[in-house]
Amino acid sequence: MNYKIGVISGDGIGPEIVREARKVLDAVCKKYEHEFTYTDLLLGGASIDVHGVPLTDETIENAKKCDAVLMGSIGGDAKTSPWYKLEPSKRPEAGLLGIRKALNLFANLRPAYLYDELRAACPLRDDISAEGFDMLIMRELTGGLYFGARKTEEIDGVRTATDTLSYNENEIRRIAKRAFDIAMKRRKKVCSVDKANVLDSSRLWRQVVEEVAKDYPEVTLSHMYVDNCAMQLVMNPAQFDVILTENMFGDILSDEASMVTGSIGMLSSASLNETKFGLYEPSHGSAPDIAGQDKANPIATILSAAMMLRYSLDLDKEADAVEAAVRQVLKDGYRTGDIMSDGCTKVGTKEMGTLIAERL
Ligand code: NAD
Repeated sequence: MNYKIGVISGDGIGPEIVREARKVLDAVCKKYEHEFTYTDLLLGGASIDVHGVPLTDETIENAKKCDAVLMGSIGGDAKTSPWYKLEPSKRPEAGLLGIRKALNLFANLRPAYLYDELRAACPLRDDISAEGFDMLIMRELTGGLYFGARKTEEIDGVRTATDTLSYNENEIRRIAKRAFDIAMKRRKKVCSVDKANVLDSSRLWRQVVEEVAKDYPEVTLSHMYVDNCAMQLVMNPAQFDVILTENMFGDILSDEASMVTGSIGMLSSASLNETKFGLYEPSHGSAPDIAGQDKANPIATILSAAMMLRYSLDLDKEADAVEAAVRQVLKDGYRTGDIMSDGCTKVGTKEMGTLIAERL
């Protein structure tokens, strides 16, 4: 099969880690006889350098022509980079928010998986980490408190700020369907997280999620209040498969979940719209402090490419193979600096990519 993939190499370590992900995708093509046609797209600082703005209509239009987009990371060092002398709406990060909005990427997926080989980096107690965990947080990305009307005013001489948390049933239904679809490809469990004991928006959330659940009789649905979920994530993370939640709760919980894996260089993510299309990127930033030094861990980007195979291209077998190759390299004792431990062999960005590609 032939697939069109947009590639945003981005800034900092972006080009280095994307190069390794492409190396692995090339190995997938060879093994499974697919053809990927790549289109380079400019975003963030790289786009500012060429066009003076972090995102152009050309990038959006070309991205729309692709089956999926793979991205490194964007941004630079805020203290030294000239990009940060520009007004906020012209800086690299504005390009990322802009492309998410332009492509209507409302569903943000962040897996948090604890590799046995990396357990030493997990900050949880040994008896908890021994069980391992493999969860996926599905966060609504384009609604809720971050997108509602807001104002700051003086009422009777008192400074007052107001933010609005609003969801309509359509916004809830589409993200819930995504979560159930993905649960069907995993362990068939969805835990919907809300604050339905207090918030009207959460009560509607719960109702609509229950309606959607009726179409997925094989999936077990549970509900949890967000404060309890924050505790459960550190007490018993093994209980979770798919966590479905709204924008702000998801923002906070996904950071908590990613931290308990202990390794920022390993965490992938995907942002999806109503179609199969998605933007796939590591959860970390552009790490300008180590850019160009062959020190960056490319695994988060390689695992993001695996998510792309699974969710946008429906290539489950190929995605499994990439994930297995990553596990094998860790088992064989190879580590980049960020995940290095005693008795392992330290490798650079390029060698890590090559080792994973070889194991395919
Ligand atoms: P960062 O994630 O880039 O770096 C934090 C620390 O983690 C650094 O010490 C870095 O060296 C290390 N690190 C990150 N990724 C690594 C990897 N793959 N391998 C080894 N070490 C890694 O966060 P930051 O320093 O706060 O931000 C740097 C820039 O990235 C900023 O401009 C920020 O706005 C941008 N950013 C972009 C994205 C994105 O593109 N989606 C996300 C977050 C931050």
